[in-house]
Amino acid sequence: MKRVDEHLADILGSVRELPPLELALPESLGGVLAEPVTAPVDLPPFDNSAMDGYAVLAADVAAASETSPVSLSVVGDIAAGDQGAYDITPGRCARIMTGAPLPGGADAIVPVEWTDGGAAKVTIRRPATPGHYIRRAGEDVTAGQTVLPAGTRLGAAQVGMLAAVGRARVLVRPRPRVAVLSTGSELVEPGSPVGPGQIWDSNSFALTAAVTEAGGVGFRVGSVGDDPREVLATIQEQLASADVIITSGGVSMGAYDVVKEVLSGLGTMRFEKVAMRPGKPQGFGLLDDRVPVFTLPGNPVSAFVSFQVFVRPALRALQGLPPAPPRTVRAPLRVPIDSSPEGLRHYLRANLGEDEGGDPWVAPAEAQGSHQVFALSSSNALIVVPEDVTSLQAGQTVDVLELP
Ligand code: AMP
Ligand code: MG
Repeated sequence: MKRVDEHLADILGSVRELPPLELALPESLGGVLAEPVTAPVDLPPFDNSAMDGYAVLAADVAAASETSPVSLSVVGDIAAGDQGAYDITPGRCARIMTGAPLPGGADAIVPVEWTDGGAAKVTIRRPATPGHYIRRAGEDVTAGQTVLPAGTRLGAAQVGMLAAVGRARVLVRPRPRVAVLSTGSELVEPGSPVGPGQIWDSNSFALTAAVTEAGGVGFRVGSVGDDPREVLATIQEQLASADVIITSGGVSMGAYDVVKEVLSGLGTMRFEKVAMRPGKPQGFGLLDDRVPVFTLPGNPVSAFVSFQVFVRPALRALQGLPPAPPRTVRAPLRVPIDSSPEGLRHYLRANLGEDEGGDPWVAPAEAQGSHQVFALSSSNALIVVPEDVTSLQAGQTVDVLELP
């Protein structure tokens, strides 16, 4: 049987980074920068006020106090967006709003709260030192500075940074578009009634959601029955527009394992047994020389675990990101694990928590069947028991994958 690490290495060895695309800012969220972004100007671009108040000469208000306030004449108003074409000379000041350019001569801002708010004359009751409440040009970013290096995944703050340096478009490796297809003649769309022998299709929903959680763009194709022609046609239809295709079901040893049947021999597809539980039957390969196709097992927990272990790292690699699995922590077991299959890497549904002192612990769920979706949906982690470990005592420390 193939080891988990070997299978993952084969996958990562064959996926290539997506070509960069120039996207408008609103479409760029989740993309990974394929260029470094530099600031064309200083940020802020000019000295400006950090408060609504008065632009003054600090020397004029140095002696101001509650008992002997200073009175200055107000030469005008400067709003944000004005050009600030005033010159402040001794005995004078300008009323100024937050973000408005600092007028010539002024070297401090007195916030309006320290004054009587006058429009022609203003009474100031507290002193301000030079530089007070002034935002200096370039104190955030200097012209020419790299604000976002290539390889950065764009979140909301990074999209804001791009706009703040004047970018309307940006070169990114886009979020991979992933088509998700379930197979199985027993599957019924949720919302429709199930008849005898039927179950609702959950994999196409869970896997599409997992794609989104992992930073891709999931497209749920839906489910198709175990009909070879229909399965092949549906996969081929997706090849033109998808960066990745995920199927579930039809890859084990049964009589109707249709995915394996129709894809065997196509592209670089290989169907293998991987030494893990759940998730032993796996298929992977490139179709059309380009599109990675993951054929995951049908049992819902197997499909989900396979996604986290194999698909998630590959989606990251497509964007040029380090192909990390979900975050892994170490935690002591709260209860023993009496038996874990020799030679298989065992991913147990589990709960990771903390005791009152803030120390972590982890406990496996009772139900560990690969069809038991409730145990999965009430877990927040997977315990990873290595291939060569068959039992563990309470208190022993294990690797734990935190579920997103
Ligand atoms: P298969 O790999 O097709 O033999 O399926 C293994 C098990 O997973 C069977 O019990 C299927 O009914 C179940 N299964 C397959 N696909 C799905 C799905 N999309 N949603 C829920 N259960 C599924
Ligand atoms: Mg099936």
